[in-house]
Amino acid sequence: MRIVVLAGGIGGARFLRGLKQAAPDAEITVVGNTGDDIHLFGLKVCPDLDTVMYTLGGGINEEQGWGRLDESFTVKEELAAYGVGPEWFGLGDRDFATHIVRTQMLGAGFPLSAVTEALCARWQPGVRLLPMSDDRVETHVAIEVDGEQKAVHFQEYWVKLRASVDAKAVVPVGAEAAKPAPGVLDAIAEADVVLFPPSNPVVSVGTILAVPGIREAIVAAAASGTPVVGLSPIVGDAPVRGMADKVLAAVGVESTATAVALHYGSELLGGWLVDTVDAGAVTDVEAAGIRCRAVPLMMTDVEATAAMAREALALAEELR
Ligand code: GDP
Ligand code: CA
Repeated sequence: MRIVVLAGGIGGARFLRGLKQAAPDAEITVVGNTGDDIHLFGLKVCPDLDTVMYTLGGGINEEQGWGRLDESFTVKEELAAYGVGPEWFGLGDRDFATHIVRTQMLGAGFPLSAVTEALCARWQPGVRLLPMSDDRVETHVAIEVDGEQKAVHFQEYWVKLRASVDAKAVVPVGAEAAKPAPGVLDAIAEADVVLFPPSNPVVSVGTILAVPGIREAIVAAAASGTPVVGLSPIVGDAPVRGMADKVLAAVGVESTATAVALHYGSELLGGWLVDTVDAGAVTDVEAAGIRCRAVPLMMTDVEATAAMAREALALAEELR
């Protein structure tokens, strides 16, 4: 079975760990969000790709959900001693090595997809991890501070400001001119199932879908009978973690499992899983032409996550 998963960081990575357990023989291709990418200290940092790679490769800091296990912060302290920031982005010493290797390879002319493959040769994530694009896409968030309108990098909004001010708009800068990375469209066309994990619908899955060709490829696959199934990142009318409600509001979508399903729409989604606490959403989602089931959706451990993945695959089977 060939499965394609569109993934952001933590939510996507944890779901993938469960999916690997639920479908050990499946060939899994992950299309990763690169809209969160940022240049820091002269280095190219790809937080979502790295979170997937470290999580599946056994190198993640479990409690945090991002960054390396057993990490130290000497380089960060030394940079701070020079007065060089930003101090709000936590790059540890082990993590720095990843960004050095990536930046060096990019400088030598390799595309991000080839660099990601090279990094994965060490981590052996057990999936094929593709960036959504080799082209630069950077998510910016429009905010208002003291009556002044400005746009900040997504990381500044999320990590520095902790989404403490309202997002007026979310713009994946560069997306309209980006091309899907090599292998992305073929993987979608050849997929037996396409899954949207519990990732941020705006700044993770939404950014991936904003790369011209990707949404169209999924719509075409769905139209030709490939089941496309999503799992709600919203449980009980709130994000499980993070601040997805802020960016959903910016695109005019309520933070409910139903609203997120309708936001994706029946053109993309054939099936949608909501948590059991949102069982009341099933009728509304089905009325929109999306098959819906209420099942436990909390990724408390790998077992629970594998059970979610099995439910998603069972719903896909029903749709086939
Ligand atoms: P990020 O890039 O690290 O922000 O991670 P993602 O883009 O993958 O998005 C995280 C999303 O997953 C958030 O909207 C969370 O609400 C959601 N999420 C996190 N943990 C869980 C969980 O256990 N269950 C469900 N249903 N959603 C979750
Ligand atoms: Ca992210």
